[in-house]
Amino acid sequence: STAFLNGEFLALEDAKVSVLDRGFLFSDSVYEVIPYYDGRGFGLDAHLQRLARSLDMLGIAHPCDMDGWRRILAELVEANGGGDLAVYLQITRGVPERRDHRITHDLTPTVVAFCQDRPPHDPAALTDGIAAVTQEDTRWHYCTIKSTSLLANVLAADAARAQGANEAIMVRDGAVLEGTSSNVFAVIDGQLVTPALRDTILPGITRGVVLDLAARDGVDHAEPETLTLDALRGASEIWVTSSIREIFPVTRLDGAPVGDGKPGPVWTQMQERLQAMTDE
Ligand code: PLP
Repeated sequence: STAFLNGEFLALEDAKVSVLDRGFLFSDSVYEVIPYYDGRGFGLDAHLQRLARSLDMLGIAHPCDMDGWRRILAELVEANGGGDLAVYLQITRGVPERRDHRITHDLTPTVVAFCQDRPPHDPAALTDGIAAVTQEDTRWHYCTIKSTSLLANVLAADAARAQGANEAIMVRDGAVLEGTSSNVFAVIDGQLVTPALRDTILPGITRGVVLDLAARDGVDHAEPETLTLDALRGASEIWVTSSIREIFPVTRLDGAPVGDGKPGPVWTQMQERLQAMTDE
């Protein structure tokens, strides 16, 4: 497949980055994963805005403006045949002359983008739902930055998988935050809830889309400051959302059924609305 590296389009296997790159040495970098449906980026502007915000929060220079990104990604998707893809875009702080914790502030950022297939979901994930487990959150506190410091996330996801679960839901001081690569929604006493945004939650693009759809559909919803694990255990529905998963119903939490153990009516409604949007 075709990749993009620092201004050039080239074969993915030829895209190589220096071992001195601060993204490699220190995870000093940010990224986005943008879903494409039939060659069109879904939520593209929101992803690019979040990217700009992540860069600003780390003080990394913007390699190009919104129009520049749109042009690069359009050309990349076209070179990869369009269709249903996930575009991965990463920007690192750049390559200093020597390894040094101290940040060199005038580096030229490294820009990498490539495409991966977005295979159709396992139908069972949508008919039966998925299993999730809860886990104490061991990540740093700046989860609102979409950085490539993902070791705690990948270890938590791997531990979930070892327990036969599709996702780990992270809990800090009794408060439910988000999944390892998803945001969390629940239906509790008939109300759709997702934890209010804070430093320890990534502002998911899909999360925003679902909240907009709920508002448009008149679904009673709230963003509580604290969603306790106890409250989550009493939910009639739980979902995880992300650009790749879209909305997955969670029907088993820590081995116990969620509600009646089947995907619920609010999920069905939001799922239909989201599918209509991505099919447009
Ligand atoms: N939270 C975390 C930690 C993530 O890594 C992701 C996406 O991978 C999400 C939430 C969902 O964000 P989005 O809907 O923008 O894909």
